[in-house]
Amino acid sequence: MTASPPPTVRPLSAEDLDRPIRSVLPELARGAAAFGKLGITTPRQALFYLPFRYDDFSDLRPLGELAADEKQSARVKVTDVKVEPGFGRRPQRVIAQLADGSGSAEAIWFGRRYVERRLEKGSEVVISGKVTFRGWRPQFTSPEFSPVGHESIHTARVVPIYRLVGGVTQRRVRELLARVLERALPAVEDPLLPAERGELPDLADALRAAHFPEEAADVPAALDRLAFDELLALQLSMAQAREARAGQRAARVAVDGDELLALLGALPFALTGDQRRAVEEIVADLAADEPMRRLLQGDVGSGKTAVAAVALAGVVRAGWQGALMAPTEILARQHYLGLAPLLEALGVRAEFLSGSLAAAAKGRIHDAIGAGEAEVVIGTHAVIAEAVTFDRLALAVVDEQHRFGVAQRAALQAKGAGREPHLLALTATPIPRTLALTFYADMAISTIREMPPGRRTIRTEVRNRSALPKIEAFLASEAAAGRQSFVVVPLVAESEALSAASAEAEFERLRAALPGLRIGLVHGQQRAETRDATMAAFAARELDLLVATTVIEVGIDVPNASVMLIEDADRFGLAQLHQLRGRVGRGDQQSFCILLTDAVDERSQERLAVVRGSRDGFEIAEADLRLRGAGNVLGTRQSGLPPLRVASLFEPRHLVLAERAGTLARRLVSADPALATRPGLIRMRDDLASAEDEGDAA
Ligand code: ADP
Ligand code: MG
Repeated sequence: MTASPPPTVRPLSAEDLDRPIRSVLPELARGAAAFGKLGITTPRQALFYLPFRYDDFSDLRPLGELAADEKQSARVKVTDVKVEPGFGRRPQRVIAQLADGSGSAEAIWFGRRYVERRLEKGSEVVISGKVTFRGWRPQFTSPEFSPVGHESIHTARVVPIYRLVGGVTQRRVRELLARVLERALPAVEDPLLPAERGELPDLADALRAAHFPEEAADVPAALDRLAFDELLALQLSMAQAREARAGQRAARVAVDGDELLALLGALPFALTGDQRRAVEEIVADLAADEPMRRLLQGDVGSGKTAVAAVALAGVVRAGWQGALMAPTEILARQHYLGLAPLLEALGVRAEFLSGSLAAAAKGRIHDAIGAGEAEVVIGTHAVIAEAVTFDRLALAVVDEQHRFGVAQRAALQAKGAGREPHLLALTATPIPRTLALTFYADMAISTIREMPPGRRTIRTEVRNRSALPKIEAFLASEAAAGRQSFVVVPLVAESEALSAASAEAEFERLRAALPGLRIGLVHGQQRAETRDATMAAFAARELDLLVATTVIEVGIDVPNASVMLIEDADRFGLAQLHQLRGRVGRGDQQSFCILLTDAVDERSQERLAVVRGSRDGFEIAEADLRLRGAGNVLGTRQSGLPPLRVASLFEPRHLVLAERAGTLARRLVSADPALATRPGLIRMRDDLASAEDEGDAA
């Protein structure tokens, strides 16, 4: 590592960890620009700027014993260095000849002048990299190297690899972080007591080993400890939210058995077994004075709305008010169109509250809600939160709950005029049990797996781009037959603007390829009104084809749509593909889902085969979890989950840690609800929450 600081340097205090690096570690002032690019301002942020993988170069061998295709190191003499100038598109190359007593080798770097400057003929270096053989001769490609006699963080050890931003090099990040660690680790206080962390390493040791492990075997325990802290931070905020709710009382809503039977009898269809069970679970929750927190999950079209209708009608019959909120105006309207007739059949009147209503009309509905005359109100969250005071709201139904942030859910719960409304969240994202235990630990879950009878199956095919002309001809023939198609392009994770650009390019391409078709375009960079108008036009059959980014995922119900074409399907989560597919097959024509991909790797093929082969959203979600990892199943952004950086729920060890964190969090919070005696834990919790805000804002 780097040389020890002179003894006159003041040791850092715990408080210094959260002060600017430039003021507490002035000797690193020259790293300010690099730190800035990496988003690091304080020593603590540097400590938690973790590598995303490691190169294990600890295998030190004589050149004569190098093995092919392995990462290795050797202590060698540089016998020659040659620079080949670049030519045309070929970059400059630096080629060094290496030798030791056992044999010789070659090292090659592309376009790296600094190598030439630092590598001298005749010098002795330790070189680390992956070895390939050209004939009998071993070759290192773009290896790391450091002079013999200078212990190095770059060679002959387990070397951390960091995410790089804006031209900062791996070596630079590594050197800066090593310096920060050296100064800052002694100031790190462990927020956990030894008994709480058990066999997990202490925080400073975990951070040291996560950056610069002595050996590869030290990494898992270090990451487990950091994962545990993350999971504990999450569980602490859930435990505190639960604790805060414990003092709140909800209305006891008594829906008696005969009333319920009458409601069920008045529906235009018989509920499936799963729907009935969900209704019973909800009715039982409503009867308690503890506020319900229930998630109703089921595939698109499985009949969640019908269950919500029965629950809302039961609440109204028992003398209370209900509300249903959707993330967008268009979805809210669609809910209204679907729910109103069902509720009417059940003897209940629903009001649609829209932001675009004239002030007078809006005022009238507000008054009716305040006076308790409006029985069920349907609208967007924003509209309902805006100005409405309910007379006796007892049940709030939230559609697609994962689109609502934690803060929005809290605001809604403040609507109950002294009493907490019961909360029913509907979601079409199937949540595997393991995730439910961790992230929805504070919610009860009802599940609908069984689809209503008489659904047609959707034909799903995987195709590559060479099939595009045929597919386009098919889209044209569907349009000629009066049916409609969706074409979905992937969301580019790094940038909404890029997603929009690729949707626009595809829109232009299809307009040129299919001039006879009426084609629309929706993406997240458009104004909401433009997007809503295009979706409405598609729903009204004024368009044959809708090119879209995944903004349509929770989108509209168009029974006449028969084709869902998904481009670069390998770039989607499986659950997401399944949900997109659910946008077709809602009418009585045969429907198709075409997964377009040019990915030929086995894993992509396997993943897409899961979607082709299964109609069960839960089976698909479990497979997604198995094949990709949890963060990707839900996608932290759309799920409203905090972006876990270390913990992976794909990792069985971490699931065990999550349960353990839950137990510890409940114990800590019940002993000390505000965690007043544990400032270290509060900071951990708040750090995670601020990471969540950043995720939302991105
Ligand atoms: P979800 O909200 O889960 O997407 P919906 O409640 O909107 O599903 O139901 C989809 C369609 O199926 C609606 O037209 C609804 O009237 C109908 N439906 C719901 N439950 C049943 C059932 N048990 N039998 C027949 N049709 C049903
Ligand atoms: Mg629905």
